[in-house]
Amino acid sequence: MKSVKHWINGALADGDPARTAELFNPATGEVSGHVSLASVADVDAAVAAAVAAFPAWRDASLVKRSQVLFRFRELMYAHRDELAALISAEHGKAHSDALGEVARGLEVVEFACGIPHLLKGGYSEGVSTRVDSYSIRQPLGVVAGITPFNFPAMVPMWMYPIAIACGNTFVLKPSEKDPSASLLMARLWQEAGLPDGVFNVVQGDKVAVDRLLEHPDVRGVSFVGSTPIAKYVYETGTAHGKRVQALGGAKNHMLVLPDADLDLVADSAVSAGFGSAGERCMAISVVLAVDPIGDELVQKIVERVGKLVVGPGDDPKSEMGPLVTAAHRDKVASYLDLGVEEGAKLVVDGRETPVLGGGTAAGTPGFWLGPTVLDHVPAGSRTHTDEIFGPVLSIVRVGSYEEGLEVINGGLYGNGTAIFTNDGGAARRFQNEVEVGMVGINVPIPVPMAFYSFGGWKSSLFGDTHVHGTEGVHFYTRGKVVTSRWLDPSHGGVNLGFPTNG
Ligand code: NAD
Repeated sequence: MKSVKHWINGALADGDPARTAELFNPATGEVSGHVSLASVADVDAAVAAAVAAFPAWRDASLVKRSQVLFRFRELMYAHRDELAALISAEHGKAHSDALGEVARGLEVVEFACGIPHLLKGGYSEGVSTRVDSYSIRQPLGVVAGITPFNFPAMVPMWMYPIAIACGNTFVLKPSEKDPSASLLMARLWQEAGLPDGVFNVVQGDKVAVDRLLEHPDVRGVSFVGSTPIAKYVYETGTAHGKRVQALGGAKNHMLVLPDADLDLVADSAVSAGFGSAGERCMAISVVLAVDPIGDELVQKIVERVGKLVVGPGDDPKSEMGPLVTAAHRDKVASYLDLGVEEGAKLVVDGRETPVLGGGTAAGTPGFWLGPTVLDHVPAGSRTHTDEIFGPVLSIVRVGSYEEGLEVINGGLYGNGTAIFTNDGGAARRFQNEVEVGMVGINVPIPVPMAFYSFGGWKSSLFGDTHVHGTEGVHFYTRGKVVTSRWLDPSHGGVNLGFPTNG
């Protein structure tokens, strides 16, 4: 039985013994250990450590900070298998998929290694007679990251490499469902030479989140999670005077025009729909099939779904693992019946899917649900519009490009979307007209590279700054502009007029 604790000021911390939660192995349903849940005092201790570490870290040279990041990158890469195994054991995703999230997170560390370049300001010589102006960006102080269960390594890595590279100190509040990866990352930071107190972890739930949102010494909060909590975090954090970026939920549509290559579309829809059991904010959960290709496309999707191998994440043959908790599996599974009640046709029933080493998904211990396909889902039904966040792919039939676009733009979320077509003009029109933050053209999961920024529109993002890339650098720093004149024999004496340039 493992016991997952906090990491405060460079050491494990037990915290309040009265508050813990169970951890599960989603593949068996068995309890695998416990995680500490921080009290207000535990959060205060982590923030105090981060406050104390800030002045020296802020003053560490850019090159020194960058060198620590380079070493952290090498250590994370060397430990990627161990990290992936921790993720898989608590989240349930296939080992190869967990390795993929570590790799994508590492790209942000690699981006942050270039912090000396990224923090370069501007300099204008002679804005007035013998007067120069220049801009600098400075760290905020203590910043917090609050992250979801579905990417326990990658999502924190969207945040802390850049925050720390910019000279901030950091408190991470990971998901209480799969917290172990956070402690390995903390240990590797220490091994890389990061001073104690610069990176801290508080495990916990709403108590920890609320304290971080209210704590006067926390200057900025990055959040990723579901839309209702993102909205709450944004409103509460900003009401307490903090800078907040809060990324919320998603319901991503793939619009398929009749001229698309349907084999490519079917491969892409199945990969993007069922990878990580659909527990990705960039998963494709709705295929909008423009007439008349619907029947042929559904047939191709069903053929591919029938070949997917579902099994425990640590079995190398598994392509798709279980869902994260029993409650989440039950919620996702409830949409199979709801979909039928709302008029959809259940063409692949994930409850019947065989599980490696077990029976059907419904009959095997653990949090199993196989890939499910619902066809003829009515546009606007709950099955179509709710974020199900599981292996349920809905096919909505539409008559035209315009109708498909209207369905997408009418939705609550605006995280990701994709169009599949061989018509460059249609694709170009789509990228211009669609109200979504991240767009794929014949690419089903258009996750921006680390040097661009990640974020959606509408209810998929509260705040105006996306994560990582240059927007990340912007979020974790404050700008300052200096206007300077060094004494010159010709300075002109007292002048009460407002400074103008001359
Ligand atoms: P969640 O909103 O339940 O939890 C996210 C974080 O908030 C966790 O750390 C959790 O402990 C905390 N939290 C939960 N309830 C809270 C409450 N009442 N008050 C304060 N804090 C609370 O999300 P989840 O289930 O862990 O993750 C899945 C969700 O995250 C999905 O909606 C998914 O779309 C979204 N997500 C979005 C992105 C994105 O980039 N937009 C990326 C990954 C995941």
